[in-house]
Amino acid sequence: AKSAGRNQYCFYQASAGQQNADELKLEQALREALRLQQLDVHYQPKFALATKQLVGFEALVRWQHSELGTVSPVLFIPLAEKLGLITALGEQVLQRVCLQLQQWQHFAIPVSVNISALQLADTEFVTRLHRIVQLADIAPQLIELELTESCLIPEQAEQTLHQLTQLKALGFKLSIDDFGTGYSSLSYLRRLPLDTLKIDQSFVQDLPGNISACQIVSAIIAMGKALGLDVIAEGIEHQQQLDFLLQAGCDKGQGYLVSAPRPAQDITPALSAKAIK
Ligand code: C2E
Ligand code: CA
Ligand code: CA
Ligand code: CA
Repeated sequence: AKSAGRNQYCFYQASAGQQNADELKLEQALREALRLQQLDVHYQPKFALATKQLVGFEALVRWQHSELGTVSPVLFIPLAEKLGLITALGEQVLQRVCLQLQQWQHFAIPVSVNISALQLADTEFVTRLHRIVQLADIAPQLIELELTESCLIPEQAEQTLHQLTQLKALGFKLSIDDFGTGYSSLSYLRRLPLDTLKIDQSFVQDLPGNISACQIVSAIIAMGKALGLDVIAEGIEHQQQLDFLLQAGCDKGQGYLVSAPRPAQDITPALSAKAIK
């Protein structure tokens, strides 16, 4: 038993070492990707549930590495946060989105951008975001910031409220992403100058077969409406999910049922065709 234990110990040692080596490699690759501005942005359509008509896009960062292949943001966003690179990454995404909005300016189509809690925690965030958007000559009204409930840390409630109020005054739209998965109090949410609640895909996935998912989704929609907010559901893959959301009073959605996130060059022709019609 003792020697087995020792072997096991060795095994864990080796794998922990390997894990560190992999992480170090990923870290170096990410630093390089940021330095060379190699990150890309894909766009997922948001649509009206009743008509499947396009109402906007969500920008999602993408990283294609020559050796590592496609690296998921689920992996490299937390790494960027850990390494203190998230502000730089976030600004590159915002710059890309602004360039895209310039190209799409005839369509005046809104794009939402994911903002990490750590980006928002930076006291310079509002100023820098405003500068980027001004330099690109983009109307802030076309940009919606998707914040998660983790952005709304109770200890910084007043500071966050102040920032969100500033962003709102500049014209940016504000959305709470992954809604229903965090712990923010409703009385605090009510004080924030929000435009949209986005229902988390974990609830949408369980529609319509799971009763508690149906009840939670219905409650979020009712609450959003009571607060005068737009409600959008993400992760819609099946028509039955869309049907449930529609009858529960949700207006908008996103998901593979209509389209996965796509590169901008795939989207522009469709937008142009729609504009001509
Ligand atoms: P999120 O903001 O909740 O984005 C939704 C995720 O669901 C995206 O994954 C999207 O591609 C995926 N998705 C869309 N439709 C469907 C569907 O019908 N079914 C399923 N199963 N999934 C769907 P992605 O692109 O891998 O992004 C993962 C997460 O990484 C995002 O979750 C967001 O938290 C973060 N992220 C992505 N881009 C950025 C960014 O530019 N900045 C920051 N801070 N975070 C980002
Ligand atoms: Ca999002
Ligand atoms: Ca989400
Ligand atoms: Ca999510």
